[in-house]
Amino acid sequence: MSYRTVIGLEIHVQLMTKTKAFCSCRADVFELPPNTAICPVCTGQPGALPVVNSSMIDYAAKIALALNCEIHEYSRFDRKNYFYPDLPKGYQITQYFYPIATSGYLDIDIDGQTKRVRIRRLHIEEDAGKLVHEGDSITQAQYSLVDMNRCGIPLVEIVTEPDLSSPKEARLFVEKLRTILRYLEVSTGDMEKGALRCDANISVVDELKDIQSNRVEVKNMNSFKFIEKALEYEQQRIIEALKNGQNVEKETRGWDLSSKITISMRGKEEESDYRYFPEPDIPPVIFSKERLEHIKSSLVELPDQKIERFIEFYKIPRYDATVLAMNKEIADFYEACVKQTNKPKEVSNWIMTEMLREMKQLETEQISITPMHISELFSLMDKGEISIKMAKEIFPEIFRTGKMPSQVLEERGMKQISDEKFIEQIVRKAMTQNPKAVEQYKSGKTNIIGYFIGQVMKETKGSANPQLVNDIVKRLLEGST
Ligand code: ADP
Ligand code: ZN
Ligand code: MG
Repeated sequence: MSYRTVIGLEIHVQLMTKTKAFCSCRADVFELPPNTAICPVCTGQPGALPVVNSSMIDYAAKIALALNCEIHEYSRFDRKNYFYPDLPKGYQITQYFYPIATSGYLDIDIDGQTKRVRIRRLHIEEDAGKLVHEGDSITQAQYSLVDMNRCGIPLVEIVTEPDLSSPKEARLFVEKLRTILRYLEVSTGDMEKGALRCDANISVVDELKDIQSNRVEVKNMNSFKFIEKALEYEQQRIIEALKNGQNVEKETRGWDLSSKITISMRGKEEESDYRYFPEPDIPPVIFSKERLEHIKSSLVELPDQKIERFIEFYKIPRYDATVLAMNKEIADFYEACVKQTNKPKEVSNWIMTEMLREMKQLETEQISITPMHISELFSLMDKGEISIKMAKEIFPEIFRTGKMPSQVLEERGMKQISDEKFIEQIVRKAMTQNPKAVEQYKSGKTNIIGYFIGQVMKETKGSANPQLVNDIVKRLLEGST
């Protein structure tokens, strides 16, 4: 059996502009009470006229540049007509005939290989409002309320070619896209809050029989994990159908969080259902070459560029650079730590294992410590005051409380023993107690040295400076011959 999965994504990105797409209402409405950021324009009152928010155009252009798209000097808005209670005008303003950008690509890293995913188009549109169902369930609600705060919030829609060939690739694509959006500071990229929404089209090709299944659209996947889970489920469902000589419906399905399956929502609508036509109230967008050049020159370093720079400049492995660059805050933190410690690889190891583990456990994206914390920790290890084992032991507390490493050590009464006389005493005692071991050492069994080191560690409960213990044991055993 050989089945090939085909996936294309349509992604909506909420832009972090101060105001909405075509009016001066504020655009950060997530925590506002319902219907408190609305005006005649975004609620579609007769006679109200839209005015294009020019930051929105710049933000879209930044994303388009980062996705290697061709940005068009001429683009235009159109009306997409449909009836739904969350759409007060009865149409959505979008860019259908002349999108601002087309034909780009984004490279993703899949199991160490680079895969290029083509971007078909990128266009600007406005968001719709939100229905709030009584009792939270659409099927059982007695009534629904409409919150129009979200009406008119600027969105960028990104449509890929069907170049993705697994649910994992789809997840990696959206993750990488979010990284870029955050680098650009054009969107929060929070999937849980709806600032990044992904619809996926999926079909499966039976390569032996040379037939392709119908394509299914999957919605409602509001986390990276669900993108992968929902598509895995759907992929399997389609393959089962093909195995039975059947096909799946060409339809739209939604990921259901509680049952962990996809559920049919509706038949797929055709483009002609929307009766697109040019928006008569908004002039075309003319994006001049000068404006494009200006935005190009103000673009921040993007993840892929950062990865190359880290490899070259800090001489760290590509894997490290890729992990660090996934999150701009972490990448910046890394660089600040290296500046202070001058230990690029050690810091990279520390961040990738100790720090990322803590962040994952705390389910946070916030770095709650400063580069000073890391440099103090490293200098304590350098001076032999603590072992790496002790450093790892105290790090969670440092990260959780923001206390300096020295303070944690003091509070816990943990200090590495670097008192030579004290260590010598323990070694001497062990030598008198076990003359046989000393004999063995003299007769050439030098690995017996481990026994003496072990004795010291036992006596000091593991807090003796290992390098020092090693030196002293060697010196005393040599001296006894
Ligand atoms: P529609 O008219 O349904 O919007 P489009 O041609 O605009 O279809 O494509 C929408 C999305 O579906 C794109 O992201 C595209 O990559 C994806 N797509 C197109 N064909 C397929 C297919 N056979 N299997 C999976 N995805 C597909
Ligand atoms: Zn408004
Ligand atoms: Mg389409």
